[in-house]
Amino acid sequence: MVILPPGSTIGILGSGQLGRMLAIAAAQLGYRTHIYAPETGPANDVSPLMTRARYDDAGALAAFARSVDVVTYEFENVAFAPIAALSPIAPVRPPALSLATAQDRVSEKSFVEGLGGRAAPWREITSLADLDAAIAAIGCPAILKTSRFGYDGRGQARIDMPSESEAAWESIGHAPAILEGFIDFEHEFSIVLVRGLDGEITSYAPPLNVHRDGILATSTVPAPPPVASQWTEAATLAGRVADALEHVGVLCLEFFVTENGPLFNEMAPRVHNSGHWTIEGAVTSQFENHIRAICGLPLGDTGLVGTNVEMENLIGDDAARWPDILTDRAAHLHLYGKHEVRPGRKMGHVTRVRR
Ligand code: AMP
Repeated sequence: MVILPPGSTIGILGSGQLGRMLAIAAAQLGYRTHIYAPETGPANDVSPLMTRARYDDAGALAAFARSVDVVTYEFENVAFAPIAALSPIAPVRPPALSLATAQDRVSEKSFVEGLGGRAAPWREITSLADLDAAIAAIGCPAILKTSRFGYDGRGQARIDMPSESEAAWESIGHAPAILEGFIDFEHEFSIVLVRGLDGEITSYAPPLNVHRDGILATSTVPAPPPVASQWTEAATLAGRVADALEHVGVLCLEFFVTENGPLFNEMAPRVHNSGHWTIEGAVTSQFENHIRAICGLPLGDTGLVGTNVEMENLIGDDAARWPDILTDRAAHLHLYGKHEVRPGRKMGHVTRVRR
């Protein structure tokens, strides 16, 4: 196993807030970071190197890979082929298989079901006829979700009656999709784990995740008993997924708590918003553990610091509350340095740790 020692350069695809927090963790461990993205973003404020190019520019990607010691990514909506082509030049971690599997709802659900996981009933949709047949099979309410490029509830349409199928199909632009049965879940939670280069896996306590308008609003640890009782089953499944992908780095699987046990919703082959609480709330943050994993270092302790941790996302105008948030001396404020405030845009987050 080749260890990348501090002083090495980590290439990060993406210039958003996840890249920013990865770069901060990397700097703390003595690594340099090089951001690759079509435009500058929050990560550039804290990273000395930048390649500004499209994600499908094979030449620019190859030059980038030659200038770094390892390539990682902060989001999964990048084309698979140009990234997979980098691995002979520099190791890509998490591996391209994780990227390919997680960036498509059909492949991620099939993969997880193939390993014994359960999901809401779903069907692949490539036409209006598929959609009508799926509605007849699954029933209403149901949710139509684009297979790719969806995030924070975008690319989704709820269908309450079969007559709404055409409008829903129109609203997602006839993109390849899945239809999923609507789950009357009790709670949502996630398993955030990290798998090292040597295959060691360690995971964080699962947060209770509350979404508003399809966007994560809060993550709270420890989660209440209904989540705790489904933790082991979900974490075991997540570990199987990580092993099967030969994943290296952080991996997040999201679940619904139902009477019949945890139902898998989706996964992210990267650090995740529901793991932001770990920066102050765990001994080693998800960001540091991701850096440790991709550099072949031993993983850090994922244990909880204190008795209760809550992370609240600051979305859109919420960020204007920063002076008030700072009057709470226990609040850890994170602002991502985004200049333009837009409704639904993640501007920062705040974490409160109760000792
Ligand atoms: P997703 O992009 O799949 O994570 O969906 C965003 C959010 O929409 C989820 O976190 C849930 O709160 C909600 N949601 C997604 N799928 C379903 C479903 N099948 N049934 C009920 N709510 C859902």
